[in-house]
Amino acid sequence: MKLISIVVPMYNEEEMAPIFFEAINKVIGEIKNYRFELMLVNDGSRDKTLDILKAQREKQDNIHIVSFSRNFGHEAAVAAGMKHARGDALIVMDADLQDPPELITELLKKYEEGYEVVNAKRVDRKSDGLLKRKTAEWFYKIISKLSGKIKIPENVGNYRLISRRVADKVNELREKNHVFRVVVPFAGYKTTEVEFVRKKRPAGQTHYNYKAMFRLAGDSITSSSIMPLRYSFKFGFAFMAIFGLISILFLIFEILTCCGATTAFLKIPNSTIAIIGAIGFFIGVLLIFIGIIGEYLGRVMIEVQDRPLYEVDEEIYSDLEKE
Ligand code: UDP
Ligand code: MG
Repeated sequence: MKLISIVVPMYNEEEMAPIFFEAINKVIGEIKNYRFELMLVNDGSRDKTLDILKAQREKQDNIHIVSFSRNFGHEAAVAAGMKHARGDALIVMDADLQDPPELITELLKKYEEGYEVVNAKRVDRKSDGLLKRKTAEWFYKIISKLSGKIKIPENVGNYRLISRRVADKVNELREKNHVFRVVVPFAGYKTTEVEFVRKKRPAGQTHYNYKAMFRLAGDSITSSSIMPLRYSFKFGFAFMAIFGLISILFLIFEILTCCGATTAFLKIPNSTIAIIGAIGFFIGVLLIFIGIIGEYLGRVMIEVQDRPLYEVDEEIYSDLEKE
């Protein structure tokens, strides 16, 4: 019988963990033609999450726990879960039931039809605030524009099923700072999606503030596209042309003025202010471009340093035999 690994990153989820176990066990208990492993990654929780996971492991022998030495972040936790999971297919989901476990049956149905990636698409994000929905919309718009041939599906978070083959491909990637929802489409393979309505978190609270969301967006973009660098080049060129032309024109005006022709407006202080403004604007644009280059340089530094993505403090295996 095929083994399905359910990969769940958990950070300070003491309130959610018991509710999660109840919900997930109910769903997988009803599916008879697969075996399941719960691949739980404790991302350095500071609350009782790890104790709860260990206690549950005593009761349930299909739980595999990987516990980090500190908080390394959601993406690192997902990456660790992918590496340690042994299943013939993996399902990645959040611990907070915002990714409804009931959808697993549908994910598996598509898997049986031969799909290697089954994305769970959020069709109704009413439970998220307006600002979160809007920023998410912009994120998917920008990223799909910038990533060229890689098709990043809209409104698909981490919740998805991937085959062993795709998991291996993603695990083979050497880059450190990868974003799960970008590297899976990068790998490609036969992909489809099922839809679901995203609900509110029943307990605990979100770990994603806007700062973390912008960081994720930045990582997604700089890890999958060098278009911003190209655009800066194009913009730089355009600015050079425009400002070059302006200064030549003004120079000509100056010369004409000397020769008796009149062009008064250069002497009006307003225009001087306008020129200073334009120079300031131009400097701002330059700084933005330097910042963009810096972003990429930072990524290069991270890759060159070659630090591990996470440190495992403790690992508790499941009792499942690989068939
Ligand atoms: N998470 C994690 N490490 C972190 C932050 C979050 O492993 O540093 C886990 C968290 O426990 C949850 C999932 O990632 O299972 C998604 O987090 P959350 O629900 O806070 O994000 P949101 O749904 O608000 O985007
Ligand atoms: Mg959540």
